[in-house]
Amino acid sequence: MSVFEHQAFDDHEKVLFATDPASGLKAILAVHSTVRGPAVGGCRMWSYESSAEALTDVLRLSQGMSYKNIMADLPIGGGKSVIMRPEGDFDRQALFEAFGRALEGLGGAYISAEDVGVSPDDMVAARRNTRHVVGLPDGTGDPSPVTAKGVFLGIQACAQRGFGSEDLAGKKIAVQGATGHVGAYLVRHLAKAGAELFLADIRETELKALAAETGATVVEDPKAIYDVEADIFTPCALGSVINPDTIDRLKVKIVAGAANNQLLTRDMGAELQKRGILYAPDYVINAGGIINVMGEIDPRFNAKWVEGKLVALKSTLGEILDKAENEGRPANIVSDQIARERIAEAAAQKKAAA
Ligand code: NAD
Repeated sequence: MSVFEHQAFDDHEKVLFATDPASGLKAILAVHSTVRGPAVGGCRMWSYESSAEALTDVLRLSQGMSYKNIMADLPIGGGKSVIMRPEGDFDRQALFEAFGRALEGLGGAYISAEDVGVSPDDMVAARRNTRHVVGLPDGTGDPSPVTAKGVFLGIQACAQRGFGSEDLAGKKIAVQGATGHVGAYLVRHLAKAGAELFLADIRETELKALAAETGATVVEDPKAIYDVEADIFTPCALGSVINPDTIDRLKVKIVAGAANNQLLTRDMGAELQKRGILYAPDYVINAGGIINVMGEIDPRFNAKWVEGKLVALKSTLGEILDKAENEGRPANIVSDQIARERIAEAAAQKKAAA
């Protein structure tokens, strides 16, 4: 397994491989960049097939957090951690306490929150051994409503470009993962804005209830969401949903949603562009959650500040879409380039100030 040569290594500042045989902890903590402040990003626990797979995941996610945080203009850097889920039964408290010890070893260079497979209670266990955790039950609370608000504003910015107006009344919107933490809040915003909604989820009971509440149409087979004749496709479930198997099924003008890593590969952005589909880079439109968590890092980042940041998110997304349109380039590539330039600029400023 190569590390420095890994295609996603991208000059990570630090990568810590941590083990604790007593609890079964096998974790990788990746700090991509601290040029704007401590690296912040979630901890994911997953049943990885191999440590190579875990490394690839953490490096990509950590770089993604740097991009997300700098595009939202937050005074933090980007990092992420993964825990290889132990096989069989294990003591969760002991595992996350061990994770906390590993985190403490980075001396505050990385602050962890929860991600897929990790709960606020797990962060409480980690907190016993380190201060460098956020997303605690008595902290800023569930970030999903704020993520949903940001995605809603982002969809308006996309509609302005795609349809000449940000008014979503009568627009047909297909939402994947509609009953999820983000999805359900977003669906209610969209319904209030008068959109005609088509909802898919694998949780049938919740889906029927949400559709009844919002007057939406249920897409009976979740896989059929890609085929819906709609104006906008809004992925709020899984990653990699824009891939060679789905892209030609899309009949929409816009893809904009909360899910992380929507494109299977970066070149899917160009494929969407070729098909005349406008794409909202995921890490730009879904930054509401990390914006919300900032309040746990510094109390100055209060609710009013969060509101202002969501408005800024909408303009940033609009600027990226305009630049992509003017230059005839895919929006994800334009966004990645701006993120990299901003990180390099911040690094140069830090060096000059030292
Ligand atoms: P969640 O687990 O609450 O919701 C996901 C929903 O997708 C669930 O209702 C699930 O049943 C559904 N789903 C799963 N597989 C499906 C399938 N094959 N077809 C249709 N639906 C399916 O997660 P969440 O917190 O709402 O996050 C949703 C996405 O947004 C994730 O990709 C997450 O990484 C991303 N995201 C979330 C936040 C946040 O604040 N929660 C912030 C940024 C990004």
